[in-house]
Amino acid sequence: MPELPEAETVRAQLEPQLVGERILYSWARTARITAPSIDEFSARTQNQTIVAAKRRGKQIYFPLQSGDSLLVHLGMTGRLHVEDDAQFESDALHRHIQGVLRLSNGKRLVFTDPRTFGKLGVTRELDFLKKMGPEPLGDDFDAEKIVQKLAKKNVRIKAAILDQNLVAGLGNIYADEVCFLARIHPETLASQIPIEKLRELVGTMRPTLERAIAARGATLKDGGYQDTFGQFGEFIPQIYGRKGEGCDNCGALIERGVLGAGKTARSYHFCPNCQKK
Ligand SMILES: [Zn+2]
Repeated sequence: MPELPEAETVRAQLEPQLVGERILYSWARTARITAPSIDEFSARTQNQTIVAAKRRGKQIYFPLQSGDSLLVHLGMTGRLHVEDDAQFESDALHRHIQGVLRLSNGKRLVFTDPRTFGKLGVTRELDFLKKMGPEPLGDDFDAEKIVQKLAKKNVRIKAAILDQNLVAGLGNIYADEVCFLARIHPETLASQIPIEKLRELVGTMRPTLERAIAARGATLKDGGYQDTFGQFGEFIPQIYGRKGEGCDNCGALIERGVLGAGKTARSYHFCPNCQKK
């Protein structure tokens, strides 16, 4: 699933192509990918001008003139791209194309999603904005506040920093990355980590995300993420997805562990030498 750097890359690439354009026509293949129904999705997006391209955490959204917002959840394999809208025949569209928005500039925004975990939505209330924690790239990001909150949490550090209500935008890749950079084992209880270590951890969030944005995000071996031009992200994680490879810092073999169980289980990657429990 795209994390903050991938979502920001997609947002920034779409902004100049979409903002100020009117949606002439909306099409979705199945009701499964729209929220609410296809009819309501079409009715509330058609004839609307896109007024901005925004992102909060991992979530991309496009405010419309009506006050509604078009929401895009990329899921595991969702991709957006813009192409010329020479001719529109829904029957002729590739089977992985799940949604199309035809625009007043003669282009169309195309949503492809082979695994269909993604979603296109339209909503008035942006509830996620109210709950979500601070944005690590925001000017008002108060690292010390996050450090103090973490110091009180009796949860594993990786789970703690994945909580979008604490800090927005980190998923598996970047949560593992910052734990590695701060030399903290992902299973350590947050409350047991020395405060200086927590400062180091939170301090690496912004520069790590900024480096990843500069590289247009990270594409893992599954090739799941591509930017809007079909290019892979060039950020190379030092730890995530590198089980069995040598640690960049010490050469020890990177291991993989699992946090939690069942549906909420999360894998993590760590260097057993650099990140001792
Ligand atoms: Zn190491």
